[in-house]
Amino acid sequence: MAIDTQKIIQAIMEGSKYRDAKGIIPIFGVYLSLFSVDYYNKLSFEFELMMEPSRQTKAEQLLIDAAQECGYATFHGIRTSKEWEKIVQPMIETQEDELQGFISVAIGLGWGNIELVKLVPGENLVLRATESYEADGYISRHGLSKSGKCYMLRGVSAAFMDLIYGDSYPEGYNTFTAIEPKCRAKGDDFCEFVVQKSHKKEYTC
Ligand SMILES: [Zn+2]
Repeated sequence: MAIDTQKIIQAIMEGSKYRDAKGIIPIFGVYLSLFSVDYYNKLSFEFELMMEPSRQTKAEQLLIDAAQECGYATFHGIRTSKEWEKIVQPMIETQEDELQGFISVAIGLGWGNIELVKLVPGENLVLRATESYEADGYISRHGLSKSGKCYMLRGVSAAFMDLIYGDSYPEGYNTFTAIEPKCRAKGDDFCEFVVQKSHKKEYTC
């Protein structure tokens, strides 16, 4: 059975009606916050720009890692939730279906119009997004970029592969890593995320 993205988006939209005064949304087994993308973009891009040039690459990597770690924990929570078991699990026959289920949830959460372009099971993945709020936000604040700016989707793309093809949670984190060779913030028609097996990442700050 194919994954019915519209059905998943519908369930998320229905569940998103219930939130407390602080904008916390309890849905799919996790607590999500309703958050201004303008504020998020301001925080992340200004954090990067405030670093001296020699540290901007490290700042970028920290933002990507934060997204990957958050995506890894959040989507593990989502795939072990009652809602997932009831709505998504019955549609899943293969690991590719599970990946498409993650993508459908991410679309429902407003993270972009994400499309699965290519998957080599256990090896690599290519995703495309045509509505990344980070690309839009970067262009509106800073104009065209020289590099990919969708740190959130870049980290989350790798987290999806970690969850499906890495070791059992939480040991599989960082099994994969993603790059963004094409990005709308650079003037490309879409953002493209290429996920491959990672080499162990280490930092010195
Ligand atoms: Zn992008």
